[in-house]
Amino acid sequence: MDTYDNLLATITPASGPTREILDPATGAVVGLAPVDTARDLDRAVTAAGAAQPAWAALGHAARSDILNRVADAIDAAAEPLAELLSREQGKPLNGPNARFEVGASSAWLRATAATPLEAEVVVDDGQVHAEVHYRPIGVVAAIGPWNWPMMIAVWQIAPALRMGNAVVVKPSEHTPLSVLGLVAVMNQVLPAGLLTVVSGDREIGARLSTHPGVGKVMFTGSTATGKAIIRSSADTVKRLTLELGGNDAGIVLPDVDPKAIAQDLFWGAFINTGQTCAALKRLYVHDDVYDAVCEELTAVAAAMPMGNGLDEKNVLGPLQNQAQFDIVSRLVESAKESGARVLIGGNPDRDQPGYFYPTTLIADIDGANPLVVEEQFGPALPIIRYTDLDAVIREANSLDVGLGGSVWSADLGKAREVAARLETGTVWINGHGGVHPMIPFGGSKQSGYGLEFGVEGLKALGVPQVING
Ligand code: NAD
Repeated sequence: MDTYDNLLATITPASGPTREILDPATGAVVGLAPVDTARDLDRAVTAAGAAQPAWAALGHAARSDILNRVADAIDAAAEPLAELLSREQGKPLNGPNARFEVGASSAWLRATAATPLEAEVVVDDGQVHAEVHYRPIGVVAAIGPWNWPMMIAVWQIAPALRMGNAVVVKPSEHTPLSVLGLVAVMNQVLPAGLLTVVSGDREIGARLSTHPGVGKVMFTGSTATGKAIIRSSADTVKRLTLELGGNDAGIVLPDVDPKAIAQDLFWGAFINTGQTCAALKRLYVHDDVYDAVCEELTAVAAAMPMGNGLDEKNVLGPLQNQAQFDIVSRLVESAKESGARVLIGGNPDRDQPGYFYPTTLIADIDGANPLVVEEQFGPALPIIRYTDLDAVIREANSLDVGLGGSVWSADLGKAREVAARLETGTVWINGHGGVHPMIPFGGSKQSGYGLEFGVEGLKALGVPQVING
């Protein structure tokens, strides 16, 4: 796996039906993904069930040692993995993109391996002694999206393995090769059968989420699919962690220095070309600093090169697929038709190959416009002017999703007061979207439930058992 060609050869199916995966920047064929069947899925779940008891019996320390060796294997294959990710997903090698994602994948494995999880003594009063332990669940299904395919797969796989479970992964049909490549590298170290990828479309995902051999579904994707999984997992009462869609608001208070925050505002919104669950998707700016923030943000946006991900100079790439390109196009058109002001972008070159949508900033837009109230999941940020803080907090909270949010201010105390009033799983202050392996992450409202990362994330991959006595 030391070269891109070797990595691709390793994951190219020797037989069976396949599907071509196309580069979203050029339309060229990146590789062939297997089209797995219900039989393949059953086999993967059976193999996982067979491998799991011995893995669980190793205990935390031995499993953590192995996870560190898995991280070493990812580091050794980092450049081929980053190239595969860049070609398939579209994200550039440079910037907070493909190399960053591969690096984060191994770093997350190491952090997950290092996180202590002790049994908790909840009562010990001389008469009663009660402890809570977290036992393995068995087989965990990991169903993921196409925006951060490797990193999100690791977010699901690492705590599941650490807690003594086996895993069957169902990657997005848009980015199966990235996950197949990552798992092939991980499986150089892991025991056979413990971690398997089943590559296929939504139907295979649906089947996995009803499979009687699966005890828990870790799902990251859209709210609509999350709801389908809640329904389909009901008959077997599967445990669920659901990281669903968001439409994060950022609120800029009047005391900011617009130039000082412009770069962080930009990356909060445009990381991975806006295709990020907890990206800043609606920016509310106080009237006092509105024009200055728009000006500084436009200057930052104008300086960020977008293009083919393999070109080292680029930091923004194409949208990953036609459907997402169409969503962004429709929402920007609705903003333009409403009379909102385009500060930059908004006019894709449809003769150019690839799903490139230019970095777009839209000012003087009504808070009820579809570009504001729907998740754009792409490089088009609406900037809404406000004067009344209570009204803007109400507006930020008015949607039925609540993944992240941010408050921007020179006054930390004031920012924390505003943060406490936002109905979201995370509120960042003077930043947006940063995640950390020791800080729990999850959504409120229809952005999902259950936490990932840190001790809370480990507990979510175990069955709590109380020993009383
Ligand atoms: P999606 O819901 O369309 O697909 C996600 C996965 O679910 C894919 O692997 C798909 O094949 C599978 N799937 C589809 N139907 C299924 C079913 N009925 N049962 C089981 N599996 C099924 O999402 P997407 O378009 O790939 O991702 C974009 C969305 O994901 C955005 O809304 C984004 O906000 C969200 N997202 C959330 C987070 C988070 O942490 N909260 C992170 C990344 C992306």
